[in-house]
Amino acid sequence: MAKVADTLGYEVIVLGAGYAGLMAALGLAGRNRLTRIALVSRDEEFVERIRLQEGVSRTVTTRMPPLADFLANTKVEFIRGHVEALDAVKRSVRVGVGGDNREFTFDRCIYALGSRIDEVSVRGVADHAYRLDPGSGSRFVGALRSKLEASAGQSIRVVIVVGATGDQSILANGLKGARSGPTRPRNTNCDVGRTHRVQSSREKTWV
Ligand SMILES: Cc1cc2nc3c(=O)[nH]c(=O)nc-3n(C[C@H](O)[C@H](O)[C@H](O)COP(=O)(O)OP(=O)(O)OC[C@H]3O[C@@H](n4cnc5c(N)ncnc54)[C@H](O)[C@@H]3O)c2cc1C
Repeated sequence: MAKVADTLGYEVIVLGAGYAGLMAALGLAGRNRLTRIALVSRDEEFVERIRLQEGVSRTVTTRMPPLADFLANTKVEFIRGHVEALDAVKRSVRVGVGGDNREFTFDRCIYALGSRIDEVSVRGVADHAYRLDPGSGSRFVGALRSKLEASAGQSIRVVIVVGATGDQSILANGLKGARSGPTRPRNTNCDVGRTHRVQSSREKTWV
């Protein structure tokens, strides 16, 4: 992994080192005429989000390999920082790096900042929702798993906000709920579009 150079202009700057950004940067690191490629991300690790939802029913070792392992011996420069602003007309991006704001210019920019849990716009999320991000604490998946295990044999109410990840959370964890409701993910008894009562058991099957 190359170090950030003194000049601040890049031929290509890739924002975000998730699946999309990292793959794009590594693709550009191959044989081509490009010499100035930067990958910007706020973390030094690559978070493998895939299958994080399985942490609801069992301990899943978080896979967060260092980005340096992927970028070693490539021409990609890694900039650890928070992307603050992008100006497509000026072809520049402002990045918070270690307490400073730095401006990088580019010929081309790949925007791959992905998605994140929004704790701010929906009232109650910060205080009441469990998140499937890596981490520990009272609002992370380990805490949810403990709560479900402690509630074995009792009815508890679980609300799952169903996008593709919520859908997978239901399927991967063998969730079962009440049978009434407008629609239902395949092979489960969960209802979509309403809250439902579920029970947890140590066998990880919720009836
Ligand atoms: C809990 C969970 C489980 C999932 N399970 C599966 C699965 O089993 N199978 C599957 O196919 N898909 C799964 N997905 C979906 C999959 O993870 C996403 O489609 C994929 O991560 C999208 O990749 P991305 O590179 O676009 O964005 P992301 O993975 O979100 O990466 C974005 C990157 O940009 C960085 N970033 C964001 N904002 C800034 C900023 N302002 N400044 C600097 N850096 C920033 C982030 O730190 C991150 O590194 C799951 C998603 C979640 C949340």
